[in-house]
Amino acid sequence: MNRRKTKKIMVGNVPVGGDSPITVQSMTTTLTKDIQSTIKQIKELEEVGCHIIRSAVTDLEDAKAIEEIKKNINIPFIADIQYDYKLAIAAVENGADCLRINPGNIGSENKVREVINICKERKVPIRIGVNSGSIKKEYLEKYNGVNANSMVESALEHIKLVEDMGYNEIKISLKASNVFLTIETYEKISQIVDYPLHLGVTEAGPIWRGTIKSAVGIGSLLSMGIGDTIRISLTGNPIEEVKVGREILKSLDLLQEGVEIISCPTCGRTKIDLIKLVEEAEKKLKDIKKPLKVAIMGCPVNGPGEAKEADIGIAGGQGEGLIFKKGKVFKKIDEEFLLDELIKEIKNL
Ligand code: SF4
Repeated sequence: MNRRKTKKIMVGNVPVGGDSPITVQSMTTTLTKDIQSTIKQIKELEEVGCHIIRSAVTDLEDAKAIEEIKKNINIPFIADIQYDYKLAIAAVENGADCLRINPGNIGSENKVREVINICKERKVPIRIGVNSGSIKKEYLEKYNGVNANSMVESALEHIKLVEDMGYNEIKISLKASNVFLTIETYEKISQIVDYPLHLGVTEAGPIWRGTIKSAVGIGSLLSMGIGDTIRISLTGNPIEEVKVGREILKSLDLLQEGVEIISCPTCGRTKIDLIKLVEEAEKKLKDIKKPLKVAIMGCPVNGPGEAKEADIGIAGGQGEGLIFKKGKVFKKIDEEFLLDELIKEIKNL
């Protein structure tokens, strides 16, 4: 896959765009001013591999909380601001590594300039984020409603405002809850500007449905080489957002980390409790960081062949199983010791 070339910006110490690895972001669900709860949640998200965190800044107390939060976390912090330019300034003064704000929404040119000036001074980038629900009336009329044209033109207006003030540390998001619209819009903007793109399907929904919708939308774009950082929006614990985001990247070989289990769907040839075996293996292998493909297949007839690309695997049989590496069988083990033996072999790899 040819990744589209974008400008590289720095969000704190994490590069976004250019040839930097694609990052996974999430957003806290705590009140930002509840400093201890916010730190706790960010640390939990760091644990599961979140690269960048964003929190809502709704008042001055939230903005001031950033200083203490930043002292206790290891990943860059983005302040999410709606309209109040004073909160944007306060967030940067208190250490935010990036602002999520739409310059066209914060009022007079002087206010925008004040925000841009402090961002310039502290080298803080700005994410311009247009959502399908927040397009200006003027563009909705011009383009007959919410569509890729009205979303892109809306984003270009915000971009121009920042560029005209001599700043171009920008990343862009153009999210819609409709997958087709999301894909079309990102494709369109990617042909016009070279700023890094933050991908997301907004308000994707509850965990199961939202995961599928996000995987289809974000996965389609990534497979076209579009996208530099991603956020999965799920109604649930943000830990799930990070896990899903990482799995989407892994499935496209954009993140090489941890164990990828390749397992068969089982059929009439399966003679072992494969579903239980896979569930247990998933739990036991979850902390391994080394990139590995592990196959767990139901039968020795097709298993090793079907999972040739796996580094190591097992194929169940009647009361026993085979352990194979790169499609070649090298050990026969009693069924009850199969999983333990597999784990032992993986640790020796
Ligand atoms: Fe059936 Fe064997 Fe294929 Fe699993 S690997 S689905 S048991 S044929």
